[in-house]
Amino acid sequence: MPSSIYLDHAATTPVAPEVLAAMLPYFQESWGNPSSIHQFGRTAQEGVAYGRQAVATLLGCTPKEIYFTGGGTEADNLAILGAAMAREDMGRHIITSAIEHHAVSHTLDALAKRGWEITALPVDGDGLIDPAQVGAAIRPDTALVTIMHANNEVGVIQPIAEIGALCRAAGVWFHTDAVQTVGHIPTRVDDLNVDMLSLSGHKLYGPKGVGALFIRRGVRIKPLLYGGGHERGLRSGTENVPGIVGLGKAVEIAGAEMDSEAPRLAQLRDMLLDGLLARIPDAIVTGHRTQRLPNSASVIAKYIEGEAMLLRLDFAGIAASSGSACTSGSLDPSHVLLAMGIPHGFAHGSVRFSLGRDTTEADIHYVLEQFPPIVELLRAMSPFRAGMECMSAAECAEAPHHH
Ligand code: PLP
Repeated sequence: MPSSIYLDHAATTPVAPEVLAAMLPYFQESWGNPSSIHQFGRTAQEGVAYGRQAVATLLGCTPKEIYFTGGGTEADNLAILGAAMAREDMGRHIITSAIEHHAVSHTLDALAKRGWEITALPVDGDGLIDPAQVGAAIRPDTALVTIMHANNEVGVIQPIAEIGALCRAAGVWFHTDAVQTVGHIPTRVDDLNVDMLSLSGHKLYGPKGVGALFIRRGVRIKPLLYGGGHERGLRSGTENVPGIVGLGKAVEIAGAEMDSEAPRLAQLRDMLLDGLLARIPDAIVTGHRTQRLPNSASVIAKYIEGEAMLLRLDFAGIAASSGSACTSGSLDPSHVLLAMGIPHGFAHGSVRFSLGRDTTEADIHYVLEQFPPIVELLRAMSPFRAGMECMSAAECAEAPHHH
């Protein structure tokens, strides 16, 4: 058996060796402050400029439109809160989707508490947003539309270019959380028609704790952090030079290999999904079958719990994750799966396999060999037997669980 198979790349990726090699000199020799005028500062400044140019090249924008942050969460917060503060005199309405990452949805919850009105658009059974609904939801007081590029749980890719065209026609700023897509599928900002786009280093073989926000020239948002005026006044704080260099290297590699890696992963993903559907009775694929990230395979095995499956998969050396984040022992299933109309009882049985650069065909065969018997065993022990699908949170809470 392979010692361990990592199929959780949507949670985080390993740092590529070339990325680490590019970062190390910025800890060891070139540790200057990019704001300093002397040669130590200049060398560090060159590292930051390299990272900015690399990110701009992948997104098809100018380096001046890239603002480095402390990760995807901070980029989302800066885009949303920064736009809200800049535009609140024009209106206090924001449009989003029901399936956003918490970095977006909880930020909007905070604005709602301060009196903003948030319209969260529904998705269909495949997890897709209908662009026409965005158009219909735009009002004269709409300050921002924020809709994710691809969902982190089910991998569904939204029609961002179409939504962006509608926003542009209406003169409304459009932000997309592209943390799951940058470096994996094309994300040129002019093709996507976006005004702001968030990305994160650690989802594309770069370091954790560094990300970026693209802000289109002419879109003027307010900063969240005040201080020395770094990042053209939008993100004060001495730059994370090694992180920015690492992010630059990571996007450079991802851009160069996307054309070969995306189809390779899509083929392995389909092999996994088809194989699981063939081997596991009462299994469903969550999310659209083709409008999805090349590396994302999410399934539900009905009548059992995701967590129990994950523990047994881990024991078999397979690292996967649950679409339904059972945070702090709560039984609440994923808001994404519920928004897709999946009943509570089924939404508990979800597992996400997210493939990556190191994933091989042998890994997929191993999962196809190990996972079906795990499902069979758990079903034999499960209180959620056929016909017992519970439809509401209350019924679900009453059913016996084995945590
Ligand atoms: N948005 C999406 C869609 C994500 O998947 C993640 C990752 O967890 C984030 C935002 C947050 O990014 P970070 O972990 O860099 O803060």
